[in-house]
Amino acid sequence: MWRLSHRFSLRSSEPAGSVGLAVFTFASAGLDYGGGIPRGAAPKMRVLVVEDEEPIANAIERGLIKIGYAVDVAYDGAEALEKATVNNYDVVCLDLNLPRLDGIEVCRRLREDRFAGGIIMLTARSSIKERIEGLDKGADDYLVKPFAFSELAARIRAVTRREGGLREPVLNTRGLELDPNTNRAKRDGEDIHLTPKEFALVYYLARNEGRAVPQEELLEHIWDEHANPFTQTVKVHMNNLRRKLNEGFDDQLIETIRGKGYVL
Ligand code: CA
Repeated sequence: MWRLSHRFSLRSSEPAGSVGLAVFTFASAGLDYGGGIPRGAAPKMRVLVVEDEEPIANAIERGLIKIGYAVDVAYDGAEALEKATVNNYDVVCLDLNLPRLDGIEVCRRLREDRFAGGIIMLTARSSIKERIEGLDKGADDYLVKPFAFSELAARIRAVTRREGGLREPVLNTRGLELDPNTNRAKRDGEDIHLTPKEFALVYYLARNEGRAVPQEELLEHIWDEHANPFTQTVKVHMNNLRRKLNEGFDDQLIETIRGKGYVL
């Protein structure tokens, strides 16, 4: 509970009755729900806003929550790294001029720790050198202050498209056509209705065609970190997938190679 009062006391500098408190949410306070986002919430993109100027940080936070993101805020560089270690962010909006650890160093350490999400730097107009350095250290994009919120939102959409699966190619192999943008699968031109998990499985195997993919690798890429590696989950989905893909065909797709995994 200390975090809650900690955040409230931080915000008590805002004028009484300000909208900042009206839209205050537990998720934005960084409260831990044993995984971050409350259970039952729709899967969301999660953004970390790193900004020491509170009014700016709070305005960005409010704006992003309004358009559907889950948002955490860090007010200095060290706090940003701590939060990025504990939580999984899709995007970090990173002010460069920060106390305790500057933004360039945060960016460098994030990439060194294999942070795979997008990083958008928020920079002052005069700091061209910094921007170049930030891009060299692994930032994906930058915005010059002051910026319009709508532009930040557009850049977040752009970097998440780049990071995410939306631009994955349509794959054609062995009579299968797999379109990850629509999750549609066809075999010899006929639609096959797959669940999202089944689609993700066959798409992953198609991307790794000819290689036996171990069950652990499938768990890691297609399920989240909470999946239990000792359950039959992969096997059950794989059986359903095979049945749907192979019904009525002589050529049976997806072989099991003992001790190695599944291969398409
Ligand atoms: Ca700053």
